[in-house]
Amino acid sequence: MSLLVTGSIGIDTIETPAGRRDDVIGGSAIYFSYAASFFTPVRLVGVVGDDAPSMLEKVFDGLDVDTSGLERREGSKTFRWHGSYVKDLNEAQSIETRLGVLAESAPVIPQQFTDSRYVFLANTHPALQEQLLGLIQRPKLVVADTMNLWISTERQALLKLLKKIDGLVLNDGEARLLTEERNLIVAAKQVLSYGPKFVVIKKGEHGCLLVTKGGEAFVLPAYPAEQVIDPTGAGDSFAGGMMGYLATQGHFTPATVKRALAYGTCVASFTIADFSLGGLQATNRELIDERWHAYKQAMSF
Ligand code: AMP
Repeated sequence: MSLLVTGSIGIDTIETPAGRRDDVIGGSAIYFSYAASFFTPVRLVGVVGDDAPSMLEKVFDGLDVDTSGLERREGSKTFRWHGSYVKDLNEAQSIETRLGVLAESAPVIPQQFTDSRYVFLANTHPALQEQLLGLIQRPKLVVADTMNLWISTERQALLKLLKKIDGLVLNDGEARLLTEERNLIVAAKQVLSYGPKFVVIKKGEHGCLLVTKGGEAFVLPAYPAEQVIDPTGAGDSFAGGMMGYLATQGHFTPATVKRALAYGTCVASFTIADFSLGGLQATNRELIDERWHAYKQAMSF
């Protein structure tokens, strides 16, 4: 099933207790695409400036990611993010965000992508997310991610977007910021009142929480990882594993969604084991499945 993603593509500088990496490939759409491609073909839509490193085009070599929606815009600057996890491995501190091309018009969606049935609006300006969603003809499942910057600065645009999507994925701090509720179940219900049919709240090393409009609440622990080198992209990889698996199933029964969340959890556990894309580059579908089965086993009592 066709899975389309749009979001940020950028150059990151990352600091964690394990060290620092300057000018590495990052961006929400990059992590998502990599993670989802273990499950299903991915269509990537995003825009970078003319200063983007040439290795960007090579990131998906050998993977089932169609990059014909990747625009290199002359005269524009690539999105840059400098984040730190030194104080708290569960929450990035944004030291500097240079939006560059993300503050401009949305990238063009290739005509052959407009029939995509599964759509993930990874973290980027909510106006871009909405603009791109408007071009998809008949989506079956639309899920979005967002973050504190957009909740604080583009609240109205974000609330407008929330009316048009099926699901929202965000972390606990963002859910509290968006709703001004401390209790996460209350916050999740508040998010649902803005439009989505389900919300997934990620809680870093404490796992995730799913709440649906049907009244279901479900929690999963994180994979018990001993070494966290770089949490960057964990959220996007989680979403990539979840959406990638859902796209292979074609239905969203509660059991399927729970299995999808477990896949998201396992894929994210590979991401955090190394800087940038290193953790994802070191895994494959076989290793993900192996971890998924072990995790499932550990869950049953
Ligand atoms: P996460 O999965 O939440 O850790 O996402 C990490 C990625 O999000 C990094 O590679 C950053 O480039 C990207 N990012 C950070 N801030 C923003 C933002 N305001 N909008 C879009 N992408 C962002």
